[in-house]
Parts: sequence; C-alpha cells; structure tokens
Amino acid sequence: MHLIIATLHVRESAQAVALAAGCLKSNLPEKYRKNTKLIDLLPDQDNDTILERLLQGKPDLIVFPLYTWNRCQIMEICRRLKQQHPDLILVAGGPEASADSIRVLKQGQLDAVIRGEGEAALATLVDQIAHKQPLSEIPGLVSKTSGEPVPGAALCPDLEALPSPWLERTLPLEEGCGVLWEVARGCHFNCAFCYDTKGHQGVRPLPQKRLKQELELFAARGVSQIWILDSTFNAPPGRGRKLLQMLLGTAPQIHYHIEAKADLLDDETICLLAELQCSVQVGLQSADPKVLSPLQRKLDPQQMIRQLRKLSDAGVTFGLDLIYGLPGDNHQGFRRSLDFALKRQPNQIDIFPLAVLPGTELYEDRDRFGIAGEEQPLTGPLITAATLPMTCGKVRYWLPLPISSTIVVGRSVFFCSCARHWRQLRLSSSKPFLSGYSRPEATLVRNCRQRTVGDQKQFSLCNWLSAGKN
Ligand code: SF4
Repeated sequence: MHLIIATLHVRESAQAVALAAGCLKSNLPEKYRKNTKLIDLLPDQDNDTILERLLQGKPDLIVFPLYTWNRCQIMEICRRLKQQHPDLILVAGGPEASADSIRVLKQGQLDAVIRGEGEAALATLVDQIAHKQPLSEIPGLVSKTSGEPVPGAALCPDLEALPSPWLERTLPLEEGCGVLWEVARGCHFNCAFCYDTKGHQGVRPLPQKRLKQELELFAARGVSQIWILDSTFNAPPGRGRKLLQMLLGTAPQIHYHIEAKADLLDDETICLLAELQCSVQVGLQSADPKVLSPLQRKLDPQQMIRQLRKLSDAGVTFGLDLIYGLPGDNHQGFRRSLDFALKRQPNQIDIFPLAVLPGTELYEDRDRFGIAGEEQPLTGPLITAATLPMTCGKVRYWLPLPISSTIVVGRSVFFCSCARHWRQLRLSSSKPFLSGYSRPEATLVRNCRQRTVGDQKQFSLCNWLSAGKN
C-alpha cells in the first residue's frame, strides 16, 4: 500500500516543518512506513499543480493534517481528488479535523477523519485498510460509513513509546535549518479562544531522554534555530528550569524561540533565559483584566509590569502578543492595550485578529460572548474579527488586518515584518501611530494602500504605520 502524508504549510519559511506528518510516519509499522512519502505543499501553488504532485506516486491513501490556514484549500483538493479517483482513500486529522470532524468529513468527501492525536490511530487505520477490515473500532474516528465518531478521542497513551521523527530520520536536518521541536503536549490553562488544551489531559512532557538525544542531534547537524513547541514551557517553573538547563548544557549555540507565562517566571528562570540565546514570547492578548476574565485568563497588570521589567533588565529578548477584536474590547481598550505593551519596551509586538476556532469555548458559546459573525460555508466555521461588532463606525478600518502584523519596537531584532515603517516613525508610544484611528475616512483612504474584499476595505498594519507618518 502506498501512502502520502501531505502538509500544506502557511508559507515558505524556516518554520515550514512537516512535524505532524513526520510523527505520523515514524509511528507506522515498517512495512507501511517504507511506502510512505511526505509531501510539502505551499498555498501559492495552484491546485492543478498540487493534484498532479499528489497523484504522481499513484497513492492508495492520502492523509492531510488540517489547520485553520489550510482547511479551505485542502477541502477543495480532496473534492477534486475524489471526483477524479473515487477509490483513492482520503483521511484528515489535526486540530481543525478534530474540532469539526463531521463537517470536515462531508466538506472534503473524505473516507475518514481522525479526532485527537493521530499517531496510534493512523497506524491502526492503515492496517485495517490494508486488511480490508471495517473502520469501526478506533476511538475518535469518524468514517464515511458510520458518519458518527467512535466514542472517545485518539490519544497516544504512552509518549515514552512514541518514536521521534528526528531520531528516526523521518524529517530532514540540514546545516543552518530551523526545527519545530515538540517537548510537551497540552496546556495547564484553558483560555476560551485557544484549542491547544483540547484533547489533552493537562500537560504531558515528552521523555527527557528522548529530548536530550534530539538536542544532541540538532547540535551535531548544525541546526541554527529551534521553535520550542510547549504552550507554556514554565508551567510549572521547575519543568521550565530543567529544560533551560538542558539547552544551555547541550546546545547553547542554537537560537531558541520560547513561549512563556509571565506570571510564572521566577528569578532563576529569568537568569537562565538571559544566559541562553533565545526570544521569549509572552501572551498578553489584552491589558484589561475585565476583557480577559470571561475568557478564562487572569491578568494582574502590576505583576505583568514587574515581570516584564525583570526580563527587560536581564537583557532577555522578548515579544508580546495582542489580540484585537476580543469580546468586550473596543477601540479605546485596544489602544490602551497597545500602549501598555509599548511601554514595556519589548523587542516586538505581534498583533493577531481574533479567530473564533471550532472546538473552543468561544466558538461553542459564541452567542453568550456576543459574537455576531457568520459561518463561512467553504472554510467552515472560522469567524474572524472582521465580522465582529467592533467593525462599526470609524473602527472598521483597523480591524480587518489580513493575518497578523508585527511591530518591532527596538533593541535587538530577530525577525520582523514592519521594521522599516516603525524605524521611519521612531515611535516610543502608540500615540502618533494610533492617531490614525481617528482620522477622517478620506484621509485614511488617501494614505493607506487598500484592497477591497467583497464590500470590506482592508488595510494592513504596515499601511497604518505609513499613514501615521503623513
Ligand atoms: S492561550 Fe496559551 S495559556 Fe491559554 S490555553 Fe492556549 S496555550 Fe494555554
């Protein structure tokens, strides 16, 4: 049997690593693994080209990890594959398929959807297909014959037994490349807009021995940067310190990207971060505790200020995430959050539009949160901030940012998307930048490059920065 696991990445970048595909392939029995091919796809390839690539090896089964960013395109590709080759078996997994399995099954005319962690479930599924057995007993599986999920969700009960896609050499490692490095699954917290914690039971760290061996391999192969996949590496702080000590002791020459929970950063952890070549990203999302509280996030602004000052004083490169369009937030509130973030003098601020993701509390309870968006028939139930009530009046022009924007504020800069504009403005607070918000529409239209999608005018944050200069 010939298998393909096809990953449609967000874009070409050092982070475009087919980690899920690598994990799935590594866990297949050898007799199937040797006939399994990983294919990397990019959204700027047209669907005809993608179809041709997928069909080249005459596969019997194609598996697609499904995410918010690739669902629409993958669904279209699956429908065309099924029309042209009705016997080709199509399976999807990943967060989007797990959260919205029945709709995904129908939209893509798929044979099966795996809900939850796919490694063990796919190995069983492939074996059942090879032996022409009915697809019935896999927890969490939705097949087109049943149309309903088998109770439960696929879970790898023993992470110790899970093969590493890096140590198995399933994924390539080249000198200077970037690596997505999974060190734990799940999250201790349960924010209403986040899917990270779903399908998991608390935090399950990968075995220390495996992590050490992977790190040694990365160092030996000359990997230049690693994105550590652990929703909050320092929860609890002792786990985070242990990881940092291992990074410093084993591969201090690599640059690490780490997500941290600011309120759990103790002095010892901050010292270790200061020694390490790393960029730390802190999820602020909003500076208003009243906005965050209904979303199951706690914020003590004074504590956040103290913690970020410690990071800054220790010389740690750090960035802050903000979300615009959160329920209960508004134009003035977002300005205050941006000002709060800028005053902390981070190296960069990443601003994301709110995405109401299937499977999250925000999506399930969207009426209570006052989210008045409409479901998009082709892409599934993703509702973006562009459809939220905040898009009224003059505010409507700053909401529809296309995907995300990065403001680089100062100090050392690792990567950025808006640095040129920010440097031109030499801003230290949000005031001049945000004064653009209150400009009359005509001025904005003159100064901003705009594009029209449907009846929505869209501006990017870069354009806003340019506008503020005039
Ligand atoms: S937003 Fe961060 S802290 Fe909250 S549930 Fe998701 S990963 Fe955990």
